[in-house]
Amino acid sequence: MTPLETHLRRRIAIEGPLTLADFMGDALGHPELGYYITRDPFGRAGDFTTAPEISQMFGELIGLWCAEVWAQMGSPGKVHLVEFGPGRGTLMADLLRAAKRMPGFLDAVRLHLVETSPILRQTQARALERAPMAPAWHSDIATLPDDAPLLIVANEFFDALPIRQVQKTREGWRERLVAVDPSKDELALMIAPGPGPIAGLIDPALAARTKVGRVVELAPLAWRIAGDMGARLSAQGGAALAIDYGYEGPATGDTLQAVKAHKPCPIFETPGEADLTAHVDFTALGRAASAGGCRVSPVVTQGDFLRALGIEVRTQSLVKAAPGATGRQIAMARDRLIGADGMGTLFKVLGLAANDLPPLPGLDPA
Ligand code: SAH
Repeated sequence: MTPLETHLRRRIAIEGPLTLADFMGDALGHPELGYYITRDPFGRAGDFTTAPEISQMFGELIGLWCAEVWAQMGSPGKVHLVEFGPGRGTLMADLLRAAKRMPGFLDAVRLHLVETSPILRQTQARALERAPMAPAWHSDIATLPDDAPLLIVANEFFDALPIRQVQKTREGWRERLVAVDPSKDELALMIAPGPGPIAGLIDPALAARTKVGRVVELAPLAWRIAGDMGARLSAQGGAALAIDYGYEGPATGDTLQAVKAHKPCPIFETPGEADLTAHVDFTALGRAASAGGCRVSPVVTQGDFLRALGIEVRTQSLVKAAPGATGRQIAMARDRLIGADGMGTLFKVLGLAANDLPPLPGLDPA
């Protein structure tokens, strides 16, 4: 039994069945035993690989996007560049290197990283050792400064935030909870015996057409953060980019999955030692941000977004400068980022902006 499972069982014995959000929050973020707190999970030797770890082009193109939006804002003398869940810091290092090309941009940038993992904060510090400015770390959006516009980037951040699940039963909506199955002495899902207020968060049209047995996911923490982003963008100015795997809702379906060593595994098998994610409902995320007061762009696939930002031209110039085998690797990395059988269509991009900004590059129709 993993130490985190021992902790969860103790919680269940004292508090009763946990919501999936309690379970996921502890499994990923428990201050001593959480998955992200105890390890660097990225890369071939780790559990999964993300877009910035596949190719430098990903962070570079996002860097050019940030610099362009800053120029659209009228090149303010100060801008807070914020990354949520920066992982190894790779995206930010690539972003800053590419953004040098925009005169004046890096002089304006104050760098902020919202990251809860102490181990990953250290990795990020190393990756950004030679960055033109020192980052300030935050554990929550609440402590970001409010004296200048924001440029926010969040890649594979929202999918790591705790979700809750409700299931339609013959008696109505019931939450799916985590308990100990006494017959097997194992963590298991159970259906709450009665209704609860969480069902009030389900999109009413979806609730009406959902069949008995189907599951709906709710992401209160992701929505809270998106709402805060929306409120800040509307008050401070600026724009945000959320990139993740997910769908345009509302939709039903259980998307909670655990991954270990690049393979799916049962969610209760090794809590604290496997990554847990849920697909992002971009429609719900956008609605939460819009309720905060900002503008929301139409959802675009990662493939279309990176193509609009010029990934083909960037690939060609990197390939030209590289020897044969490396050139082929660069082209393969591009295909993985934008191809329909890679991340190109499953991954999507949501843009948020202050209401006075012109159309966002690669996202809003011009
Ligand atoms: N953006 C990176 C990493 C994605 S993994 C990449 O693309 O490679 C998720 C990241 O979010 C990790 O850095 C993890 O430690 C961080 N994270 C998870 N939950 C968080 C929370 N509640 N607040 C801040 N960071 C969080």
